[in-house]
This record gives sequence, structure tokens and C-alpha cells, in this order.
Amino acid sequence: MTPALEVSNLSKVYRGNVVALDGVSFSISEGSFFALLGPNGAGKSTTIGIITSLVNKSSGQVRVFGLDLDHDRTRIKQLIGVVPQEFNFNVFEKTGNIIRNQAGYFGIPPKEAEIKTAELLKKTKIWYKRRETSRSLSGGMKRRLMLARSLVNNPKLLILDEPTTGADIEIRYEIWEYLQELRAQGTTIILTTHYLEEVEKLCDHVAIIDKGKIIENSTLNALLAKLKEQSFLVTTDGKFNDDTFDKVSTHYRIAKVDTHTLEIAISDVDLLGDALNNIRGRGVKIKNISNKTNRVEQLFLKLTRP
Ligand code: ADP
Repeated sequence: MTPALEVSNLSKVYRGNVVALDGVSFSISEGSFFALLGPNGAGKSTTIGIITSLVNKSSGQVRVFGLDLDHDRTRIKQLIGVVPQEFNFNVFEKTGNIIRNQAGYFGIPPKEAEIKTAELLKKTKIWYKRRETSRSLSGGMKRRLMLARSLVNNPKLLILDEPTTGADIEIRYEIWEYLQELRAQGTTIILTTHYLEEVEKLCDHVAIIDKGKIIENSTLNALLAKLKEQSFLVTTDGKFNDDTFDKVSTHYRIAKVDTHTLEIAISDVDLLGDALNNIRGRGVKIKNISNKTNRVEQLFLKLTRP
């Protein structure tokens, strides 16, 4: 099946030689709920900005349902709904008009736009505010208005840039519930966040971006399993071949780091002795062992302890 989104070797250098993205690649299957997780400044908004045509890429390729962004920008815009991080509507405009105008932007006839506006504002529970300017809405209501506006063209791919930042818990749960509903209806959803809880609650797939590079890309379950692992670096006499440790155990993995160093990744530290014996049993001498926290784990610690 054609992926909903395919990003290949995407790079972005802003003016002043700021490298925001450095060869980012990932793919999202249709129907998936995908998280792009990373600390501030990692490159999340830039990635979203490029996919939604707000930022020009420096190089690389973006395909949305098989359409190339360089050739089919207009058709791609019809397929996408976007919730940007910052509120970007006219604060003096009435709430209802914001949705109607967006419908007009997509060429939806007025009658249909009227029905859609009512449906979306009711669904996001701000219908009673339709005649008030968006300026008078609370922060949480503004978030819901952004979400309602992004859905006016029935997007097949919904992109949310930190959708619940600043929203209180109740609003956050409401938004989550609505997103789960949209997903159940077949919408592919990608969100950027630095909230781990949001990822665990909603997403089936996670890519982690740090300093403009994807450092992890897996299912949520595989990622959580990996976080339970500890890594040990083992310095040896180097008497091993590249494939010596392929599939030695289902309880741990042993991989070559360089000519003299091996890495053991293990979830049950009680089995570390077994792993070391396994190495020795293959005629390799062990000179030193050190515990190494992996980069994903370090990043998670950073994300979970602000
Ligand atoms: P995130 O969304 O993960 O916080 P961004 O994509 O906003 O990260 O930023 C990635 C990097 O690019 C940061 O170093 C940021 O300062 C820089 N950056 C973002 N926008 C601009 C811009 N318009 N001009 C120059 N540098 C920018």
C-alpha cells in the first residue's frame, strides 16, 4: 500500500547556516497514529512546516499518498489538515466565520460549508461561541477551534504540531478522545510532541528526532521494550569476527562497536554473567566492562524530567 507520508533524506539549512534537518527519512502507513517526538529545537516544526508547504526544504523528497510535494503541492494541500503550534487566526474574526472562511479556501460551496461549520463546532463544543470573536475564547477553546478548522476539508492526513501545549488536563483528554475517534474513522495522524504521556496514550509508531536527525523509529511497543534494556560496553582483545555474535541469545544482544569493543544490550541484568561467559566461550578475552546508558534513554530522561 502507498504510504500516507514518505519523507526521504530531508534537509533544511536556515539562513545563518542553522542546520535544522540533516537527512531525515521516515515513512507513515495509512491509518497509523505517528508521533514525532523530540526536545525543543530538534527539528519537529521544521519537518511539519516543509510537509505543509510553510517552509521550503533545502533538499530531499516528500510524498503524500504517493504525490510528490515538488509537483503536486495543490493536490497535497487538499489531502492535509494542519494544526500549527501557534494560534494563527484573526482574533477579531467570529469563531463561526473562521471555519466558514477556511471552507471557502478549500472551495467548499456555502451551503455545505454551513453544515460542516455546525458539525465541527458542535463536535469541539464551541458551537455556542460561534458568534463571538476568537479573541474572547479561552486557551483551551482556541486549541479546539484550531482542530475544528483543520478538519474542514475532511483531511486524509491530519498533522498536529504540539496540539495540547498549554491546554489543561481536561481539554487535553478531550482532544485526545477526538483524535482517537478520527483515527478510528481511518484518518492518518501525525503529531509532534515533547510529552511522552501523549505518545503512550495515542500513538502506535514513534520516531525520535534530535539535533535534526532521526535517532529512533519503531513501534511504540518496541520502543518501550528497548527503554527497559541496559547497555554494557565490553573491551576485549579483539579476537572476534563481525558475525561471531549473531543471534547468540533471545535474552540479550551482543554487537560489535569497533575492532576491540562489543556492546551487550540486556533487559534482565541477572543474565549479564551468561552474556559475558558466552563471549569468553568463543575464545575472546574480556579486559574491561562499563555500563552505558543509551542515547534514546538519555533523551527520554531529558524529556521526562523538564
Ligand atoms: P522543534 O520544533 O523541534 O522545537 P524547530 O524545527 O522549530 O524545532 O527548530 C530546529 C532548529 O532550527 C532550531 O535550532 C531552531 O532555532 C532553528 N530554526 C527554526 N526556525 C528557524 C528560522 N525561521 N530561522 C532560523 N533558524 C530557525
